[in-house]
Amino acid sequence: MPKKVRPAHQCDLAIAGGGLAGGLIALALAKLRPELNIALIEAEDHFGGNHIWSFFESDIAAENRWLVDPLISRQWDSYDVHFPEYSRRLSNGYFSIESSNLDSTLRKRLPPETLITGQRAEALENGRVILADGATVTAPAVIDVRGGGNMSALETGWQKFCGQMLKLRQPHGLERPVIMDATVEQIDGYRFIYCLPFSDSCVFVEDTYYSDTADLDSTTSHDRIAEYASRQGWDIDTICSTEKGQLPVIYGGDFDAFWAANGTIDARAGARAALIQPITSYSLPMAVKTALLIAELPEINQSSLDKMLRSLAAKHWKDGKFYRLLCAFLFLGADPDQRYKTLQHTYAKNEQLLARFYAGTSTRMDQLSLLSGKPPIPVSRAMPLLLKYR
Ligand SMILES: Cc1cc2nc3c(=O)[nH]c(=O)nc-3n(C[C@H](O)[C@H](O)[C@H](O)COP(=O)(O)OP(=O)(O)OC[C@H]3O[C@@H](n4cnc5c(N)ncnc54)[C@H](O)[C@@H]3O)c2cc1C
Repeated sequence: MPKKVRPAHQCDLAIAGGGLAGGLIALALAKLRPELNIALIEAEDHFGGNHIWSFFESDIAAENRWLVDPLISRQWDSYDVHFPEYSRRLSNGYFSIESSNLDSTLRKRLPPETLITGQRAEALENGRVILADGATVTAPAVIDVRGGGNMSALETGWQKFCGQMLKLRQPHGLERPVIMDATVEQIDGYRFIYCLPFSDSCVFVEDTYYSDTADLDSTTSHDRIAEYASRQGWDIDTICSTEKGQLPVIYGGDFDAFWAANGTIDARAGARAALIQPITSYSLPMAVKTALLIAELPEINQSSLDKMLRSLAAKHWKDGKFYRLLCAFLFLGADPDQRYKTLQHTYAKNEQLLARFYAGTSTRMDQLSLLSGKPPIPVSRAMPLLLKYR
């Protein structure tokens, strides 16, 4: 139910955007800084949107797991990948969170007057947030976590997908997630199917494309999910839920121009601050880290938030250079139907390297290893990209 806002809502910290990043910041503050009176402002009538967010065990430091553990719906101790040239099982744990768990946990852990839903934050200024209905939330500190903003200063391809939770008439037989089944027909770029076995007869199946465009034809994608299910011998009883996404995969651009195009408040987090793993567009690991960095600041005020979050985003951008180069290889170095070779090449590397790759913590040796071996793209196309994006 949308919450009615008092004309002048006052608090210590206003968080604009109740998605993954905003929700985790609110939960971290509720636990570590209970003395702070916060407001979490969300445009929709529930927090978190409609997502299944997943992460690898190695993505989040063990001491930080308390923040996401209550949100986890399902976990597995290993996962599979399938490529045209090989299949492989990897022993990294995999965890999935349904966004409805974020909504219910926020409502459990935070006082109701903290949670403002069904209200767009139209303007964020130093000292206040102006809501769509004209009401004002007054706060000495404001954070912008309203999701991806203006990306026109960045060079991107797209990761786009449609997923459906299928209830089958018989058990599907999967014991662990299939993170990528790239043995399917390669259409519209690098295409793969992603499967999460939620119970013996429930499986979440997603049809994913690394494409040049964000256009997503849900009907065709749903047909392809049905076709994949049929090829596995799965008899669909019910489609329980659906989700879709179009996420930018950043391979270049001007970070300062991106920052300038997205408002005047430097205290930003989540997709709004490009705190994402460039290749996967996953933001959950950085969202956990950011929420805890905020909650652990000695003084939480606009100036300390601006300074810390701007420099965190700038460092993340700088550290992401190698991954953006790989994205440039993926999108610009190969014809669309050959893009799968880059991921096939990556997944042939050792497990620890892959864990660091997903966590965005690849070492120099990892980088050299990822660039070694039989090149997945023609050298004549790799060299100009290396010169431009390195
Ligand atoms: C379907 C889907 C699946 C994904 N799966 C994964 C995954 O498995 N793992 C992973 O790490 N990442 C995943 N991602 C990518 C990324 O982590 C998510 O997009 C994540 O939700 C980004 O978090 P965020 O808080 O920055 O943005 P969001 O979660 O999008 O949150 C922004 C929130 O702000 C609200 N909002 C927007 N404008 C206003 C406004 N003016 N006023 C008030 N509220 C506003 C929105 O309604 C939204 O709730 C997925 C993305 C999608 C779309």
